[in-house]
Amino acid sequence: MTSATLIEPDLDFIARVNSGAGLNLKKCYQCATCSVACSISHDDRPFPRKEMIYASWGLPDRLIANPDIWLCYNCGDCSDRCPRDARPGDVLGTLRKMAIREYSKPAVFHSLLDDPRKLPWLFIIPAVIIFGMGVITGLMNLNPGGERIVFAHFFPVALIELIFIPLSVAVGLVFFLGVRRFLADMRATHERLGKGDPGPLDLKRFLQILVRELPGIIRHDRFTTCSDNKHRKMSHIMVAFSFTSLAFVAGAFVFALYILNSHGPYDQLNPVKILANISGIALIAGSLLLIRERRVALRQTNGWFDWYLLGLALFLGLTGMLTQWLRLAGIPWAAYAMYFVHLLFAFNLIAFLPYTKLAHLVYRTVAVAYHHYAVDILGRKKV
Ligand code: SF4
Ligand code: SF4
Repeated sequence: MTSATLIEPDLDFIARVNSGAGLNLKKCYQCATCSVACSISHDDRPFPRKEMIYASWGLPDRLIANPDIWLCYNCGDCSDRCPRDARPGDVLGTLRKMAIREYSKPAVFHSLLDDPRKLPWLFIIPAVIIFGMGVITGLMNLNPGGERIVFAHFFPVALIELIFIPLSVAVGLVFFLGVRRFLADMRATHERLGKGDPGPLDLKRFLQILVRELPGIIRHDRFTTCSDNKHRKMSHIMVAFSFTSLAFVAGAFVFALYILNSHGPYDQLNPVKILANISGIALIAGSLLLIRERRVALRQTNGWFDWYLLGLALFLGLTGMLTQWLRLAGIPWAAYAMYFVHLLFAFNLIAFLPYTKLAHLVYRTVAVAYHHYAVDILGRKKV
C-alpha cells in the first residue's frame, strides 16, 4: 500500500506567481498541450506541465531550485498553444525571476529595481558615488582643456579602477554566495523530485561540463528548436554577442594599458576598436529588436523587470556611441558630459547585475550545467 503525501500549499507563493505577469494559475486544466508544444522538453520528465501543477499547488521547494525552469528560453510556443491561456512560458519566466530574488542578496536591491518610481535613485546613487569619488580623490578634472578630447584627462583610469574594481568584486561576491546556495538547493530539489541524489558537487567535473555547455548557451542553440517564435533568437544573440565582445574589448584595453603601456584614444581602424564599434551597434540594434518584440508580445513580459534591462542595454549602447561621435565631432563639453552619463549606465549595469534579468547569464549557465552534470553523475552511478 502506498502512503499518502501531505501537500501544504504556500498560498503566498501562488499569489506572487499570479501577480508576476498578470497570470492565473487556476486556468490550467493539465491537458499537457504545453509539454507537447515545447520542443526542448525532455521525453522522460517533460515540462512545463508539471511545473504548472507545482505552481498551482503552491510548492516553491520543487520550483525555485529546479534546473528545468532555466532550460526554458521563454520562446512562447507553449503559451501560444495553451487552450486555456494559462501562459505556461510566462509562469516559468516568473519563477526564474523569483529564483533570482531568492539567491541574489541583499533583498533591498530587488525592491529598488522592482518599482519604476524608484528609477531616479538608480542614477542618483551612481552619480553621487562617481562624482563624489572624483571630488574626494581630486583625480577628476572638470576642465581638461587641451586640443584633443582625451577622456582620461577628465576622468583618469586610476579613478575608474578605484570605483569599478571594488564594485566588480562586490558583484562577484554576491554571485558567488548566490550560486553556492543555488547549487546546494538544486541537489536537494533533485532528490525531492525523485530524480536521485547527484551527491556532493564534484567541482572539477561540474566545471568541465560548464565549459562544454557555455558556447551553446551563448549561441542560444536551444532557441533554434523553437517553432513559432524562432525569429526571436536573433535579437537575443545580438545582445549576448555585444555584452560578451564588449567584455573582451574592455579586457583588451586593460591589457594594452598595463602590459603594452599603450594609451587611447585608439585609431578607428584598430581591430579592437572596430570590434567595439560593431558590438555597440549590435547592442543598440539588438535592444531595439527586443523592445519591438516585447511590445508585440506585451503580455509575455515580466513587467518592469524586463523593461528596465532593455532600456539599460539600449542607453548603454547609445551613450557609448554618442560619446565617441561627440569626440570625433570635436565638441569637448558635450563629449565629456556624455562620457559621464555613459559611466552612470555602466555603473548601473555592473552594480545591479545580480538583481536584473541579466543575472540569467549566471544562474541559467549554472542551472544548465548542473542539469547535464546530474544526468552524467546519475548515469555513471547506474552503470
Ligand atoms: S498550461 Fe495550458 S497547455 Fe499546459 S497543461 Fe495547463 S492548460 Fe494545458
Ligand atoms: S516558453 Fe518555449 S522553451 Fe519555455 S517551456 Fe514554453 S515552449 Fe518550452
